[in-house]
Amino acid sequence: MSKVHNFSAGPSILNQEVINQASKAVANFNNLNLSILEISHRSKDFVAVMDNAVALVKEILNVPEGYSVLFLQGGASTGFLKTILNFMNENGTGAYLNTGAWSKKALKEAEKLGKLNVIASSEDKNFNYIPKGYTLPSDVDYFHITTNNTIFGTQIKDIPTQDNTLLIADMSSDIFSRKINVSDYAMIYAGAQKNLGPAGTTLYIVKDDLLGKTDRTIPTMLDLRTHAAKGSMFNTPPVYPIYVSMLTLEWLKANGGIEWIEKVNQEKADLIYNEIDSNPLFEGTAAKEDRSNMNVTFVLTNEDIKEDFDALWKTAGISGINGHRDVGGYRASIYNAMPIESIQVLVNTMKQLANKYDLVNN
Ligand SMILES: *Cc1c(COP(=O)(O)O)cnc(C)c1O
Repeated sequence: MSKVHNFSAGPSILNQEVINQASKAVANFNNLNLSILEISHRSKDFVAVMDNAVALVKEILNVPEGYSVLFLQGGASTGFLKTILNFMNENGTGAYLNTGAWSKKALKEAEKLGKLNVIASSEDKNFNYIPKGYTLPSDVDYFHITTNNTIFGTQIKDIPTQDNTLLIADMSSDIFSRKINVSDYAMIYAGAQKNLGPAGTTLYIVKDDLLGKTDRTIPTMLDLRTHAAKGSMFNTPPVYPIYVSMLTLEWLKANGGIEWIEKVNQEKADLIYNEIDSNPLFEGTAAKEDRSNMNVTFVLTNEDIKEDFDALWKTAGISGINGHRDVGGYRASIYNAMPIESIQVLVNTMKQLANKYDLVNN
């Protein structure tokens, strides 16, 4: 079978060695002659997986004392709700930066359960930039940001840290891709299926002493104290997604952690953005200073050659680069596990198209 270059936005590419190890554990985990899919989450072998996954998150992101690292279910979309229930008072206000479809879904929940204050929005330009220069009122319960906008290809480069307001971030599509300062945040959450593992678990990094401070009654499963008190084992955790996430974190650590991957990610992003900017047949859709290093959105400058381009990348074994319906064009998701060689293949097809087009015109 020929190689497929997987640019899918999510669920998305995993490291091949991680896939190989994960496959083996389905057949026979830790030489127990049992599958990881059929052992108790309370068994010593799985407890070791959970402990290792948590320890790796703490080590790789340099998580300070006083934060809990949790692997829960419900997707990042339940994180929208957990944000509100755990951090907003009954009559409180959630402040949101509206930078894309996921931000919008997050803030809609605040509108349902409390008061919403949209601090700034880039919806006027179909979310192709990150708003800057806004001021945050002091009377809000928290400020929610989406650090990387998966659909629109923008990323917050300067995190708007706040001295007196709790900062909460949906980092689903750029966690572990660059250095972050965990102590800037009250809570970080991220669905696993972009940069960590398969769909089915959501990572939470939450400051313990900020929990339980609101006047709300929080249903047990949505109360982060429940899970922090039980080390993500209040109920059955998503055993397999946590195992695969652990393997990904081991891979990341073994290669040099965040310092290494941040550098690689920059090289990868530069490679494709340089082509977009120098090739007259392509144009980026996001404002240059806000371009995402994870999701690269671009369009053809001449829609008439779409069939030509689509044929070229399909022949090259490229998969998953059709843009989201809200943006159109193309989206190359170049998460941590994407090798630079695959990006080079995509860039080569873009060059090939330019060559072909020039020949036609000459
Ligand atoms: C994919 C994504 C989500 C949705 O995650 P689910 O786990 O499917 O709920 C939320 N936010 C961002 C930024 C995403 O990229």
